[in-house]
Amino acid sequence: MTLLRPPTGSVVRTSPSTLTPVFWDGGARGVLLYQCCAGCTAAIFDPADRCRRCLGNNLAWAESAGDGSIATWSTVWRPVIPSYDVPYVVAIVGVDEGYQIVTNIVGGDHTEVRSGLRVEVTFHTDDDRFALPYFRLRSPT
Ligand SMILES: [Zn+2]
Repeated sequence: MTLLRPPTGSVVRTSPSTLTPVFWDGGARGVLLYQCCAGCTAAIFDPADRCRRCLGNNLAWAESAGDGSIATWSTVWRPVIPSYDVPYVVAIVGVDEGYQIVTNIVGGDHTEVRSGLRVEVTFHTDDDRFALPYFRLRSPT
């Protein structure tokens, strides 16, 4: 068994914008934030200045419970950054509030990862002091 761990060192992130500090501040508090459109109630992620469904600009930040399901995933054996430990699992998680996030699955074995499995958010701080949202497999209930 190979325990899936978060990447070490500095992690590649999207370019900062005027919208992203709120998201990163939420992560530093252990809270996964997304935006919600006041016009059509669409959940928006990643941070945007307009709703992707109705193009309205009345978006408010909301706290996610951090629960979701794996929509799709891939086990990486040839890392993007040579210092990343392999294997790691990159996944698209459908978060229960209605948006998707590209993330890594951590805390289990790569052979356990399947589409449809329930996951929950967990934050890990990288060398640049950003708290990044990863997801771990939930125990069966
Ligand atoms: Zn909208």
